[in-house]
Amino acid sequence: MTEAAQFDAEEQGQMRASFARGETPVCPRCHVAMTARAIGGGSFGLGYARKREWLICPACRRSALFDVKRGTRN
Ligand SMILES: [Zn+2]
Repeated sequence: MTEAAQFDAEEQGQMRASFARGETPVCPRCHVAMTARAIGGGSFGLGYARKREWLICPACRRSALFDVKRGTRN
């Protein structure tokens, strides 16, 4: 194991799916709630709402950054 280990694609997919359901993603390795931090991809009002979520595990310090696709439904 390396210090800079990241989640693999499957683990990231699980976290993304949890987040998409409105749940707090859980670290698949530590089984603790991830800290979610929203990162704005741009200024509001520019006509696009690209948003990123940065999930950090407080236990193993692994993090995952992914784009959140926002639906157009209200
Ligand atoms: Zn962890």
